[in-house]
Amino acid sequence: MSDRGNILVAGGAGYIGSNACKALARAGYLPITFDSLVHGHEWAVKWVPLKRGDILDRARLDQVITQYRPSAIMHFTAFAYVGDSLTDPGKYYRNNAGGSLNLLEAARDGDINQFVFSSNCATDGMPDRIRITVETPQHPINPYRASKLMVERMLTDFGTAHGLRSVTLSYFNAAGADPDGEIGEHHDPETHLIPIVLDAASGQRPHVTIFGDDYDTPDGTCIRDYIDVSDLADAHVKAILALDTGAGSQTFNLGNGTGFSVRAVIEAVEHVTGKKVQTKVGPRRLGDPLSLVSSADAAGRILLWSPQRAATDTIVGDAWTWSLDLTAERMMA
Ligand code: UDP
Repeated sequence: MSDRGNILVAGGAGYIGSNACKALARAGYLPITFDSLVHGHEWAVKWVPLKRGDILDRARLDQVITQYRPSAIMHFTAFAYVGDSLTDPGKYYRNNAGGSLNLLEAARDGDINQFVFSSNCATDGMPDRIRITVETPQHPINPYRASKLMVERMLTDFGTAHGLRSVTLSYFNAAGADPDGEIGEHHDPETHLIPIVLDAASGQRPHVTIFGDDYDTPDGTCIRDYIDVSDLADAHVKAILALDTGAGSQTFNLGNGTGFSVRAVIEAVEHVTGKKVQTKVGPRRLGDPLSLVSSADAAGRILLWSPQRAATDTIVGDAWTWSLDLTAERMMA
């Protein structure tokens, strides 16, 4: 057992979960990764142990909780493809809502009363052009997001009924890679802008398709708030530390508070890599809001968190170093 104790990290083999495991280990916790490895990667579990399992498998969850007696659960496990959720909503409600309920009941029965819910918002029915706070009304426009909101409601109800204390962290565009190059993003299929643009820069793809350049923004392309994955990991550790010192349930948005357009991201990649990126303009992608920029004021005030790696060149630079390592691995495979 580590000095500060054990934390069960559901989804700890994924992009954000593995970075959180690294940050937990640095802060003196032992992260116990619980992951089915359907989307996660065994190579990303460097701050051991890895317990393979599905959050829908309650018996397996109980077994791991009994073995390690974690003081808290950090929950990253979710299917997260918006389009997929529209064509197969049952999968999203079963895994994201039903699986989370399993985790919460396992926490209740295992006397774990601290929970951090990592809520990657994806696109939402948000009003355009505002800085989004936790008070911004939410109108879920897809089953993925609806399943996440159900979990937020469950956390409130488990708090009232069973004394569970939880922190929900909501964010939009996780980006970048571990600055030490140990872990980074690898999705299959990859749909996110920065890795796609990097692949175009390195010649892995012929071009990037810009999904619409006729939005009402300065250069016509959509604006997003790209937040560094190690800054996100740091916020998750700060949430655990707050719960450890008795904090009550809270929800925070995480972001840099600055938006970058698709074209600005492409320019940043060209600047960092020194390579020209070929682009084509395609139609708008269904459900894309024109601008999502998060306000993280409350997280700054209460969790004493502030992004340390907010510069686009920093985020893109780490992601570029990581993508070159991945490319080398692909070539050796
Ligand atoms: N985008 C794009 N081409 C791509 C992938 C993404 O133009 O090949 C745009 C997308 O429309 C959005 C922004 O880049 O405006 C960020 O998309 P991403 O999928 O990375 O994250 P999302 O904001 O959808 O969570």
